[in-house]
Amino acid sequence: MNDIIISVKNLRKNYGAFEAVKDISFDVLEGEIFGLLGPNGAGKSTTLEIMETLRSKTSGEVMVAGMNLDNEPNHIKKIIGVQLQTSGFYPGLNLLELIELFSGLYNQEVDPMELLQLVNLTEKAKSKYKQLSGGQKQRFSIATTLINQPKIVFLDEPTTGLDPQARRNLWDLIKSIREKGTTVIITTHYMDEAEQLCDRIAIMDEGKIIALASPDKMIDDLVRSGFEKPKPIKSANLEDVFISLTGKEMRAE
Ligand code: ADP
Ligand code: MG
Repeated sequence: MNDIIISVKNLRKNYGAFEAVKDISFDVLEGEIFGLLGPNGAGKSTTLEIMETLRSKTSGEVMVAGMNLDNEPNHIKKIIGVQLQTSGFYPGLNLLELIELFSGLYNQEVDPMELLQLVNLTEKAKSKYKQLSGGQKQRFSIATTLINQPKIVFLDEPTTGLDPQARRNLWDLIKSIREKGTTVIITTHYMDEAEQLCDRIAIMDEGKIIALASPDKMIDDLVRSGFEKPKPIKSANLEDVFISLTGKEMRAE
């Protein structure tokens, strides 16, 4: 069993009278991909941004890598990777220059080409952010989360709006980040994404966690309870056809 790297206890967040997060508790284990899964408005981003030290909480306790969020937010910031707002991507700079700028801000020595290699963007090194496709933009934004060699990376709906190839490429990238020992916390409202990618998921709805387990366990529990799909399904779907026709490995978008 891996160590606990994030512990959230009785977390609440109110916006005025509105309760966006209602007394949730969960642990994230070191080295896992942990998913917060739920519909729009469930409270995923609020929860994520509190753990990222970017949003205040109403009550509860959050520990990140042994540090209490209330006492050591600045130390926590140093060991986490957070996707930057794209508005921070100065329009006049190319990808290499942006990475150099951010590594300067973080006071980190990084090899920009090595980082671009990791997210498969070496060919775009001299391009500007706005010239990238949707999937490339997401990959670049994930690259920026890795500049400070974080222990934990937070990704908020990284694949929303991407086409099937770009999504799969991003899943591969996220798995490769985990394989290097980094803990990944991701939010999504896509069930297939959570099933493919996450070691464990917390399903959120209306500010509460209504289930927390591995996708496999959740599915097994449902089947064991007597659930059956209403009719036999085909062993492929239209997305499989599309991927098969256009090529899963194709990375140019
Ligand atoms: P999710 O990321 O799951 O879509 P959010 O955490 O963004 O959900 O939002 C949860 C709820 O809190 C939503 O009903 C949203 O409208 C509300 N909310 C989010 N941010 C604010 C804010 N700054 N002020 C008021 N309400 C907010
Ligand atoms: Mg959100």
